[in-house]
Amino acid sequence: CMALDLRLSQVRTGVAWEEVSIMDEKNIPIRTYQVCNVMEPSQSNWLRTDWIPRSGAQRIYVEIKFTLRDCNSLPGVTGTCKETFNLYYYESNNDREHYIRESNFLKIDTVAADESFTQVDIGDRIMKLNTEVRNVKVTTRKGFYLAFQDVGACIALISVRVFYKTCPLSIRNLATFPDTNTGADTSSLVEVKGSCVNQSEEREEPKMYCGADGEWLVPIGGCVCIPGYEEKGGACQACKVGFYRAVSTDGACSECPPHSHSEKAGATVCDCNPGYYRSETDPASMPCTQPPSAPQQLISEVNETSVVLEWSAPLRLGGRTDIRYKAGSLGDVLFSPQQSGLGATRVCVSELQAHTRYTFTIGARNGVSQGHTAGARESVSVTLTTNQAAPSPVTSIQASDVTRHDVSLAWQQPARPNGVILEYEVKYYEKNQKERSYRIMKTASRSADITGLNPLTVYVFQVRARTAAGYGEFSAPFEFSTNSVTFLPTSPCTPSTSKQDLEEEKHLNPGVRIYVDPFTYEDPDQAVHEFAKEIDASNIHIEKVIGIGEFGEVCSGRLRLQGKREIYVAIKSLKAGYADKQRRDFLSEASIMGQFDHPNIIRLEGVVTRCKPVMIITEYMENGSLNTFLRKHDGQFTVIQLVGMLRGIVSGMKYLSDMSYVHRDLAARNILVNSNLVCKVSDFGLSRVLEDESEAAYTTQIPIRWTAPEAIAYRKFTPASDTWSYGVVMWEVMSYGERPYWDMSNQDVIKAIDEGYRLPPPMDCPVCLHQLMLDCWQRDRIHRPSFTQILNILDKLIRNPTTTLRRTGGERPVPTLLEPVGGPEFVSVWSVEYWLQAIGMDMYKDTLTAAGYTSPDSLLTLTQQDMASIGIVTPSHQDQILASVQQVLLSHMQQIQEQMQDSMVPV
Ligand code: AMP
Repeated sequence: CMALDLRLSQVRTGVAWEEVSIMDEKNIPIRTYQVCNVMEPSQSNWLRTDWIPRSGAQRIYVEIKFTLRDCNSLPGVTGTCKETFNLYYYESNNDREHYIRESNFLKIDTVAADESFTQVDIGDRIMKLNTEVRNVKVTTRKGFYLAFQDVGACIALISVRVFYKTCPLSIRNLATFPDTNTGADTSSLVEVKGSCVNQSEEREEPKMYCGADGEWLVPIGGCVCIPGYEEKGGACQACKVGFYRAVSTDGACSECPPHSHSEKAGATVCDCNPGYYRSETDPASMPCTQPPSAPQQLISEVNETSVVLEWSAPLRLGGRTDIRYKAGSLGDVLFSPQQSGLGATRVCVSELQAHTRYTFTIGARNGVSQGHTAGARESVSVTLTTNQAAPSPVTSIQASDVTRHDVSLAWQQPARPNGVILEYEVKYYEKNQKERSYRIMKTASRSADITGLNPLTVYVFQVRARTAAGYGEFSAPFEFSTNSVTFLPTSPCTPSTSKQDLEEEKHLNPGVRIYVDPFTYEDPDQAVHEFAKEIDASNIHIEKVIGIGEFGEVCSGRLRLQGKREIYVAIKSLKAGYADKQRRDFLSEASIMGQFDHPNIIRLEGVVTRCKPVMIITEYMENGSLNTFLRKHDGQFTVIQLVGMLRGIVSGMKYLSDMSYVHRDLAARNILVNSNLVCKVSDFGLSRVLEDESEAAYTTQIPIRWTAPEAIAYRKFTPASDTWSYGVVMWEVMSYGERPYWDMSNQDVIKAIDEGYRLPPPMDCPVCLHQLMLDCWQRDRIHRPSFTQILNILDKLIRNPTTTLRRTGGERPVPTLLEPVGGPEFVSVWSVEYWLQAIGMDMYKDTLTAAGYTSPDSLLTLTQQDMASIGIVTPSHQDQILASVQQVLLSHMQQIQEQMQDSMVPV
């Protein structure tokens, strides 16, 4: 409350009010104004104050302390005695008004005593003091006068206090609100804007309301300390050394994050210690970090003219997670998904030149790499040589010397021949005949004279090139009419050759690679280096001897190539003292093997030819050759497992026959088995060797028991003769490595076959499998199934083992139609995701699912090509997936079979 200056003066002095000194309750002398004209009627005695400046107040309070005599206590008073008085005010700018008319005063209130005092005893009287407070709005003038009107009471005014109320200076939410006068009305709220305290800034406009009784109400908004300061006791204090506060919305100052410091109080950010950095986007709360060290273990997988590079994360990530890799190489190559900003530790490089050395580097960077180094080398590199690849399509075909029947064609070499072009193939057909009948012409040069054409006929020509790696794609079709000299390159606006036609074309002539006979090369070393990688002998660690081959020992060991994981390998070496021919024959196996790339064909890792002994390095097959392996585990596999092995072998054989390779020595001893029970065809030595032999040597060397009659009789080796051998392998597998025709002599075997005898079904062999063997042993080779057909049959058996594999040799071949048991359950408990996880290939989950490979059934058809086309390009991954597919299928089929057996009713 604020007191106002007050002096009382008598309006009509000397009339009634008297200034009297008395003792108060505490016996302290005080001055009072008294009046007590209770005996006379019609009293109106005024006492007024001097001018009181209102000092900005809008409502003033008047506190009056007074005593009032009870009329009853006064002896002999008449009816004129009163027990109240009136309080008046008058607003004025004039501070010295001598005379104010009584009628100008406005009445504030009539004041009565709450308690009157009674004189008990003279000399020992008790004084009862009344205190009354009244308030009134004063807003019109600079000040006012107060007046007291006595109307015939007995009063003593002890004190009059005049004041107004303010809301006192206050700090709320870091905003200062000044001392503020309350409003004019008893219910008014005065809105007051606060101002932010030092080192603070407005968060939301600070406001409060000053209530009529001097209380602050409803604080709104407020301020926050600026960065570098924190709130303490309503003020903003600077952060201490070693602390910081970055943004005004944060709480208190925080300790500097790791690897940073602040040297002065009031830091908004901590500076990084030497050697540590922050990126522009790093928040101040983040520790200071470092650039990463170099990526590790860069590994390359070459696939023809593309390479997959894989590496592991750096040893030191520098305390960050935003690592990105950047691949580098000299020359024009294509990185996918991209060259820099790689998040994954893998990149594919394509459009490489065939047979060319490349060096690739992989660098690691993170958010603080810019302009800083981790001290160590930040990148790793690998040098590799690409493989062979089919040539790119032939372009710019030109025609000349057109007559009614002939034309001369010439063309450019493909942009990327990827090797020595061995020949070109020209395909042509009459346009209106489409490709129902076409002719092929081969030429070693870049031109061809086509003759024997029909006059006035439109022809379509396409040319493709062949290298050791096989055929490239055909050129775009060129149309030409024998009655005109103009060539029309087919464009989208010529409807003659639609896109659909082109698709059909591709389908008819897929760019199948054809096996190249290494003996067509004059220099055997050139052949072997065309198809096999030369390995430095120092990278090979031989561990033990595992077998004896035709040319020398076979050992197992480890191979570590730069930038690759160490792998187990088999090492065949050529024994010392060999003749040139032996060396050539020995290496020819590598030249052949090196052309193949299939999960059921033994994989060539490389050769050692530049130092002795000459070696052939292949993948290591833990379980050795199939016949020995089966003998060791006689009776231990389910039919389904055995069929799974047969499937692998036929899959490999189909690949070989698709490449026009005839094996000539297919037998269980030439199939190798790895730790996953995956069977792979091996031993590619015999194919050529036999051809040079004399009749006598030929018949002693030929594996009579496995060889088709026509091959024995007149050396007619074809995919169909391989099919015969495959039938014998089936028999070997189903009989757990029994020797075909037991101890019969070769001559007796030839005779028995000729007379129409065939091997009987081995014990427990399902009828349908023996039937398939018999089909493979058809005398007329054109009646034997192709490997594609055998593969399809086995796949059907595996998919439906309950109906197909139940009957064994002893029963009659009557079809049984049992409903498959357990099939649906098996599908529902199996999941691609779980399976891929189990073999560490879960990165392909989405790829395989998106392509529709969601059940074991659908996986049966999965090929390497399928995988490449959906983006699974790493050969080792492809192998692993295919190997595991076979495993998965087998174990699940076995499960079904067991369920089925459980549900069988004894006959
Ligand atoms: P070969 O000259 O290919 O018939 O090899 C002779 C023997 O060495 C075979 O019967 C196998 O027992 C063994 N062998 C050959 N190659 C491998 C390999 N890649 N992995 C494991 N064992 C092998």
